[in-house]
Amino acid sequence: MILIHYGEIGIKGKNRAVFENCLVRNIKKALGNEIEKIYREYGRILVKEGERANYEMLKEKLAKIPGIENFSFAYEVDLDIEEMKKIAMEIAKNEKFSTFKISARRSNKEFPYSSMQINEIVGEEIKEKLNKKVKLENPELTIFIEVGNKKAYVYKEKYSGIGGLPVGSQGKVVALLSGGIDSPVAAWLMIKRGCSVVFIHFYNESLVSSPKKVEEIIEKLTEYQLSSKAYFIPFGTLQYEIIKNVQSKYRMIIYRRVMTKIANEIASMEKAKAVVTGDSIGQVASQTLENIHCIYDASDLPVLSPLIGMDKREIIDMAKKIGTYEISIKPYDDCCSFMVAKHPATKASLDKIKEMEKKIIFDIEEIIEKARTKQYSK
Ligand code: ATP
Ligand code: MG
Repeated sequence: MILIHYGEIGIKGKNRAVFENCLVRNIKKALGNEIEKIYREYGRILVKEGERANYEMLKEKLAKIPGIENFSFAYEVDLDIEEMKKIAMEIAKNEKFSTFKISARRSNKEFPYSSMQINEIVGEEIKEKLNKKVKLENPELTIFIEVGNKKAYVYKEKYSGIGGLPVGSQGKVVALLSGGIDSPVAAWLMIKRGCSVVFIHFYNESLVSSPKKVEEIIEKLTEYQLSSKAYFIPFGTLQYEIIKNVQSKYRMIIYRRVMTKIANEIASMEKAKAVVTGDSIGQVASQTLENIHCIYDASDLPVLSPLIGMDKREIIDMAKKIGTYEISIKPYDDCCSFMVAKHPATKASLDKIKEMEKKIIFDIEEIIEKARTKQYSK
């Protein structure tokens, strides 16, 4: 039996069932044939795994589902203190330890023993029969017992999930995804907070034959999101248009404004409510507060930048943890090098930028028509 605990869903009041159902749907989708039955009980989701379940694989998949706080592989027993004692003993016998504790939780108040009494009765058994010491702080072994409505669950280990909220519970956003380190982490944080993320990637088709690396990043993020949609937008012509018409130090700002406008249009087609970027204050010239002001001004929708207050070090650590870092550091020329000025403006004025931008003629619909879209699923 797999016992799944969620975190924040628990505080959603009347919407709680909606969140729980969303999480149940996602677990079903992620585990597919691996499971026989899934149902929810107050405060927890219970999954009956298939006969030939691969626990390593289950562990890997559950650790990637947003909304799961922690999960355990548990023995299911009848609501009988003798049964609890028996299973706890069996678990303990197979472990090497000298100190332990029992940690019981009773959500079913009709069970005749309190949590404290369960701890004492089961603890006594192990202490006497196996000659071990009870230690309440940092014991070498903890055996958990949860008393539910119909059954109780006994287990020894809690595996951490990623927390957050179930994907699909928070509506849709579009994320500007480059081949770099930052934007995949930004998109991941939105997925973790329960948003459905549609990816948009711009690339120079005369430099990159196919944006394979970005596809790999999306595949990795789809392990968390479970299904994804992406737009790949050839952008070479427009990049040259910008290079031709704009002084080098302002190119990046205008380039990003144009991307932002196109992202807004795609968001409206997709019924998405925000644009996500991987900006972090001051990290590069295009991310000074002045330039962020100039760039985000091009968006009608809110621009969300979940990395805004993070250091590069922290972002890299997170990228490593979620598995995008190794892909992000592969070489990739998504952007013409003329776009990146030696001395970019760090304090652009919005009026000036808007004036220069008038020279760039582009048809958003035509650009989107040329985009390739692709669906991903786990
Ligand atoms: P990243 O590591 O995400 O590439 P960065 O630190 O290199 O970010 P910039 O290149 O200035 O910073 O890009 C800032 C943000 O603009 C990115 O995080 C991303 O959201 C968006 N962006 C940049 N280039 C592209 C692109 N080719 N396609 C889609 N979005 C892009
Ligand atoms: Mg970049």
